[in-house]
Amino acid sequence: MNMKMLKHLGAIALSVAILMGCSSQKKDDFIVQFSIHAEKMDMEQLTEALKTAKAHGATRVVVWSSHGYLHPHEARDIEFNREAAERAHSMGLKVGIGINCCMRKGMPQDWYAVNRLGQPSDEFPAYKERYKFLDPHKPEVHQYLKETIAAFTLIPDVDYIALDLVRYPDVIMAAGLRPRYGVFSAEEYPPADYCYCDLCVNTFKEQTGIDIRAVEDPSTCAEWAQFRCDVVTDLVNDLAQVVHSRGKELAAFVFPGPGKAIQVVRQDWPKWNIDAYMPMNFNCLYETDMQWLKDVTVEEVEASHGIPLVSAFYLSKDWQNRDNETDCLKRGLTPSELEQAIADAKEAGVQGIGLPYALMSPEHFEVMDKFFVK
Ligand SMILES: [Zn+2]
Repeated sequence: MNMKMLKHLGAIALSVAILMGCSSQKKDDFIVQFSIHAEKMDMEQLTEALKTAKAHGATRVVVWSSHGYLHPHEARDIEFNREAAERAHSMGLKVGIGINCCMRKGMPQDWYAVNRLGQPSDEFPAYKERYKFLDPHKPEVHQYLKETIAAFTLIPDVDYIALDLVRYPDVIMAAGLRPRYGVFSAEEYPPADYCYCDLCVNTFKEQTGIDIRAVEDPSTCAEWAQFRCDVVTDLVNDLAQVVHSRGKELAAFVFPGPGKAIQVVRQDWPKWNIDAYMPMNFNCLYETDMQWLKDVTVEEVEASHGIPLVSAFYLSKDWQNRDNETDCLKRGLTPSELEQAIADAKEAGVQGIGLPYALMSPEHFEVMDKFFVK
């Protein structure tokens, strides 16, 4: 056999290896992610939860401690996550740390976003007391969040950071949540419309020539909506740089769509330089049905341009009584709907699904076993 032939055979072998590698990688790489809220768990309870998740097909977990309001200088926050990540890793689970971004209390007042009425969000939060949102355009906010996230990327067993609340407040509240917040408008709600601080208003004016404070109905100004989408995108991409420079991945929980995400919270997430988009396809919040869930997933896969799309579901733990419930947060998927949702998501071409561990009933676990446990 001459060298040319050897090279040729080598090239064929390489191609076959790549093809086989791709197909087996695709199959094995389907992401099954559980979000585990560990706020009230000690390490032994968390270990049990990790074992249960793993036994029912989990490939990765997002661990939430301190409700995601982690602080880089709190030894407790770092140590708990270090131990949690080590234990999850030892079980073969990929580990993400859940971190909230823009909704934070106790920060300097000039870091907070200002609404259309000129009110800072820490003193006049929209909807609820906890709705205190930082201004994602402020350099100080970028710096603070970068430092927070960097501290957690130093934990060796952490594979990724899972961002939540990287957005503005909901300028239009989800239909199912309106009774809870006492706001019933399906239009933009001025007290929840941000940010009209001097920095944002002036930057926008420099870029477009438009003085947004002089516009009678800012909700009709497409450039203004886009400006704020770009502000959020810049923040995420800034955070991504930090995470990627530490050799870790960045994922983010986002609003569905991306149409709804852009309209409601200014998340133009297909532009984010991250490693997984995790839309919260919680149909119960929008008072929509399984068909909506299916359609929005198709839209999201198309928008995700090859970045892994992990469709996150919301469940009804007490599903036998689901139809008697009026609270939308208790009207998540039943086990049979979860089965349908997984089948539809796979058909739409998602790379994974996400589930809230705390809302899994035994019957929901059975559905997972059917799909993901051999
Ligand atoms: Zn601002």
